[in-house]
Amino acid sequence: MFLRTLREDPADAEVPSHRLLVRAGYVRRVAPGIYSWLPLGLRVLRKVEEVVRQEMNAIGAQEIHFPALLPKEPYEASNRWTEYGPTVFRLKDRKGADYLLGPTHEELFTLMVKGEYSSYKDYPVMLYQVQTKYRDEERPRAGILRGREFVMKDSYSFDIDDEGLNSSYQLHRDAYIRIFDRVGLRYVIVAATSGAMGGSASEEFLAEIETGEDTFVRSTDSDYAANVEAVSTPAPAAEPITDKPAAESHHTPNTPTIETLVDFLNANTDRKFTAADTLKNVLVKTRQPGSQEWELLGVGVPGDREVDMKRLEASLEPAEVALLEESDFAANPFLVKGYIGPKSLQDNDIRYLVDPRVVTGTAWVTGADEPDRHVVDLVCGRDFTPDGTIEAAEVREGDPSPDGNGTLVAARGVEIGHIFQLGRKYADAFGLDALGQDGKPKRITMGSYGVGVSRLVAAIAEQSHDEQGLVWPREVAPADVHVVIAGKDETVRARAEEMATELDAAGVQVFLDDRTVSPGVKFADAELVGLPTILVVGKGLANGVVEIRDRKSGERTEIAPDEAVAQLI
Ligand code: ATP
Ligand code: MG
Ligand code: MG
Ligand code: MG
Repeated sequence: MFLRTLREDPADAEVPSHRLLVRAGYVRRVAPGIYSWLPLGLRVLRKVEEVVRQEMNAIGAQEIHFPALLPKEPYEASNRWTEYGPTVFRLKDRKGADYLLGPTHEELFTLMVKGEYSSYKDYPVMLYQVQTKYRDEERPRAGILRGREFVMKDSYSFDIDDEGLNSSYQLHRDAYIRIFDRVGLRYVIVAATSGAMGGSASEEFLAEIETGEDTFVRSTDSDYAANVEAVSTPAPAAEPITDKPAAESHHTPNTPTIETLVDFLNANTDRKFTAADTLKNVLVKTRQPGSQEWELLGVGVPGDREVDMKRLEASLEPAEVALLEESDFAANPFLVKGYIGPKSLQDNDIRYLVDPRVVTGTAWVTGADEPDRHVVDLVCGRDFTPDGTIEAAEVREGDPSPDGNGTLVAARGVEIGHIFQLGRKYADAFGLDALGQDGKPKRITMGSYGVGVSRLVAAIAEQSHDEQGLVWPREVAPADVHVVIAGKDETVRARAEEMATELDAAGVQVFLDDRTVSPGVKFADAELVGLPTILVVGKGLANGVVEIRDRKSGERTEIAPDEAVAQLI
């Protein structure tokens, strides 16, 4: 076996999984956030992949494989060549053409389906790949936990209608629960408070890890959990848009401005807007010339202002601006008709719209059980479901859990999976339509779903280790039994080899430590490597026994060799 364990912790290791995976010879660093997998590490990675594949196949998703090296054009069409910024690894070929190393593959999947399918009869379809992704993370950390090269399972669903998308989403949600249960993780599912506009259901699976970068609250007594990003760091109040210094403005005199938008809103609503104070929390839609696609645009949205100001400026120049229509609500379950600000509820029929995921203030949610209830700091998904039911107003550590069971405590986690209703964003960008039953083209709606496969290896190690080393759950352990030959005696060696052979023949995966080093070194390494069972063949053999050690509980049992084999099969 190609394996060298280390006595010392690597100098750059900040978290236990990193320290142990390097010391136990699972991975080796090549460059920041870039790691090689040694035989032990690769075995775990492959087992995690296998669990993921089985559960993906079980929901009817089909595996395909895209290149990691991709041309720029599809990412330009979706605007992500720009949006992704410095996170994308970019390169040029010998002719000077631009390429990138794929950070995620929505564009390619959309194009693939567009190329192959044309009729409503072809749908629905779910496709996935297990693939190496590249992101030039600002802070690669904790070994393979946040790499710049990493393995992700990404899948994508393609449906004719919202009902189909909901069911594809639910299938993935259930599959993810099975995956993370099988690999033995403690995790929570939280509503993701996505800052981007466009409104869509999205949930994250967070593995509970003290050194994780995400914070969430959970109930002491129930399964309730929620992301608290927005609560723990309150968004700064939106500044009036006109406060923006003139010098920073990129508008040329002839292009539409915020004032144009104010005029537009005043002409189209019965509310009076001024540029100074009321262009907060308003959602409009804009459309680029020649495009079919309307994009939802938040104006003066707290916490998201910088991004949105840029988008506003960029999109206002040549674009049309319009208020949302009834059909936009139907297409987008995360939009609610609401009222923001100090006005009375009678105004709730005013035709302006709010995306409460990003709104701080008083809001009224239609469809709530208590229709007159005002709540503050609403976040969709966290505080209410898309149909408008209020689940909680605010979540903070120390509050009673919104489900009535227990108290909320803060905890930290690492994102291991993310499920996301994309809607028609990519279908619009690439014109992915199916010819409907009525002979008319119908725009496809999509979901995207990711699992951090290589990150899972670290997350499991992070949750499952002790002072001595790694403690793998059996489903993903690099092997089942670690046979330690503890003695120089030829009969000991022969018996150990025989037992290993018998176990192997029965399909049990065995490591056999037959090195000529002291038993102490072998025991230490066996504990460091972390297989679920350690089988010690040593001087006890003279009395007809070997020892089975359970790595997790530490329990030791002396038992006859034949019985040991029978027990371990
Ligand atoms: P994070 O919030 O941790 O940066 P993300 O939201 O950027 O993750 P997604 O784009 O949702 O990640 O990708 C799907 C999954 O891929 C994530 O849930 C995570 O498990 C995994 N992943 C993302 N970035 C990395 C990385 N740098 N190293 C390892 N795994 C990653
Ligand atoms: Mg990220
Ligand atoms: Mg994330
Ligand atoms: Mg994510």
